[in-house]
Amino acid sequence: MSPPALPATPASPATPASPATPASPASPEAALRRSADALRAAGLRVSSPRVAVLLALEALGHADVEELTRVSRNRLGTLSTQAVYDMLRAFVLAGLARRVEPAGSPALFERRAGDNHHHVVCRSCGRIADIDCVVGRRPCLTPSQAHGFVVDEAEVTFWGLCPTCTVAAGADVERQEGTA
Ligand SMILES: [Zn+2]
Ligand SMILES: [Zn+2]
Repeated sequence: MSPPALPATPASPATPASPATPASPASPEAALRRSADALRAAGLRVSSPRVAVLLALEALGHADVEELTRVSRNRLGTLSTQAVYDMLRAFVLAGLARRVEPAGSPALFERRAGDNHHHVVCRSCGRIADIDCVVGRRPCLTPSQAHGFVVDEAEVTFWGLCPTCTVAAGADVERQEGTA
């Protein structure tokens, strides 16, 4: 039922936004340095809480404020959920993080931002994974009808069942086509 245990490696591939030196990715010092560099490059002051939240974002892939707070606290000790929320808002504005909010889910935050990638969400357990832009270079930014809007982002959410839930559901997939 619960999502798989947190992997030791970040779930998302290298973020194109951070021009960090390719030091050994396994080294905690390198990760700290990379986070501090990313904050500076985004024009944000480097602080221990900000670095902790940024590292939590990298480790978790897609996570809500509660999870990010819990993981950041392991590193820092005390830290309020509100403080984490405020930091996440600043990260999103600075392009260091992205906020996604699949229907029925709390807001999720991820480190991978600015590349117009999409998501596939499991209807059953809520598991979420990244999908690169549908085909090629952001073709979904050219809608069939823009109604005069200047479009700068497209967010496509694919819904279905994750491999674990597909096995659990057996051959019974008729729910998949149900209209919400
Ligand atoms: Zn699932
Ligand atoms: Zn994502």
